Amino acid sequence: MEIRIVLPFDPDFHDPKSLAALEQRCTQHGREECAEPPIASVHYPPNGRVAACPRALRSIIEDAIKKFS
Ligand SMILES: [Zn+2]
Repeated sequence: MEIRIVLPFDPDFHDPKSLAALEQRCTQHGREECAEPPIASVHYPPNGRVAACPRALRSIIEDAIKKFS
């Protein structure tokens, strides 16, 4: 398993039909729960490609540290 983090957020990293590419929203939390713009694009299983706001990126990294240490 590999986690790939793209900084800064890159709409082209995402499926052109996805919320991330079309609306440049944080897709980790979803449209209703998050008003923050994404700062990073992240690819990690099993979620696939997500657009992450700062809060989402932090939690993804914290989970990764637990998994990989
Ligand atoms: Zn968010």
